[in-house]
Amino acid sequence: MYNLLANIKYYPGLGQIMPIVERHRHFGGSISPSTVHTIMAANGQPFTMKEIISRMTYSKKEIGKGFKPFLEKFSILDEVHWSEWAIDESISQVCKDIATEGIKHVDISLSPNKYMKDNKWSIKDALKFVSRSFLHHTKRNNITCGLLLALRYDSSRAIQQSALEAINDSTMFDKWIGIDLIGNELFYDPIFYKKILDRWHRHDKVLRAHVGELPGTARHVKSAILDLDANRIAHGIYASNETLKLAIDKGVYFDLAIHSNIYTGVINNVKKHPAKRMMDMGCKITLNTDDPIQFGCTLREEMILAQRAGLNSSDIKRAMTVAAEPMQVDRMAVDEPVSILEMSPVYQV
Ligand SMILES: [Zn+2]
Repeated sequence: MYNLLANIKYYPGLGQIMPIVERHRHFGGSISPSTVHTIMAANGQPFTMKEIISRMTYSKKEIGKGFKPFLEKFSILDEVHWSEWAIDESISQVCKDIATEGIKHVDISLSPNKYMKDNKWSIKDALKFVSRSFLHHTKRNNITCGLLLALRYDSSRAIQQSALEAINDSTMFDKWIGIDLIGNELFYDPIFYKKILDRWHRHDKVLRAHVGELPGTARHVKSAILDLDANRIAHGIYASNETLKLAIDKGVYFDLAIHSNIYTGVINNVKKHPAKRMMDMGCKITLNTDDPIQFGCTLREEMILAQRAGLNSSDIKRAMTVAAEPMQVDRMAVDEPVSILEMSPVYQV
C-alpha cells in the first residue's frame, strides 16, 4: 500500500497539507519544454531550448494579456512530429512530474487530434494508444489517472462527434472517465452538445464544461448545468450567485485554477478572485494547475496563490478533500479502482 507519510511536504502557512488529488490538468499543458526539445532534436527540428522555453512559457510582460498570447504558448506542439515514441515519451514525463509533486491521482484532459496525423491513426487508434501508454506510466510512477476526452468548442462538429463515437465503443469505454468541453467558450452551443452527449449521460461519467471563464459568460454555466447536466465545471468564476446556488443543489463541482485566470487575464487581481466567495457560499471547489507548464505552477503553488485569493488553511484543506471525493466514475479511472477510494485525501499532522 502506498505510504502517505513518505510524501508529506511542508507548505508555508498551510501546515502539512498534502495535495494528492488534482482534477483539472490538460495533457498539452503538462508537456515540458525539455521533452519538446528532446523530441524535436530527434526529429531533426533545429529549435534551441531557449526558443522552446520562450514559446511555451510566459515572460513577465505577457502575463494577463488575454487569450491570444495564451493560445500561442501551445503553437509549438502543432509543429512537433508526434510519432508513437514522442507521444509515449511525453506521457512518461507528465506522469513522472505528477508523481514528483506528490500527487496520487490526477484527471487529465486530452484531445487526440494532433497525435493522429503522423501515425495515420483513426481517432480510436489514437485513444487506444494514449490510454495504454497512460496505464503503463501511471503504474510505473505509482499514481492513478482519469482520462477525459477533450472536445474543443471550435473544432469541427464532425470531429467532435467521431471522437465521442470512438469512446462509446465497448473496447474504449472503460478507459475514459468522461468528456471535457474545452477551448473558446464563445463557440459553446448547448443544442449541439445536448444532442451528442445524450447517450453519454446514461453512464454516470464525468461531464465537465469549461464555462464561465470569461466576463459575460454567466449564462453558459447555468446552461451547462441545466441543459447538459454537467457534473463538473472548469472555472465557472463568472457564474451568478443564482447559478452557484443551483450548482450547490445539484452537487456540481467547480475545478478552479487561479494561476490560469491571472495569466490569461480574466482576473486582473488575485484578491478579486471569487474562490473564497464560492467556497463560503457552499460550492464544492477544487484547486488545480490547468496548464502547469505554461503557467509555471505546481499544485503546491496554486495552494499558496489560493491563500492570496483569501482562502485560509482550512478552506484549502477542504478544497483538497473535495478534490479527492470519490465519484462513481473513479471506479473507471485508468489503473486499479481502489486506490483513490482508500486513500486519505488530506494528511495533516
Ligand atoms: Zn482547463
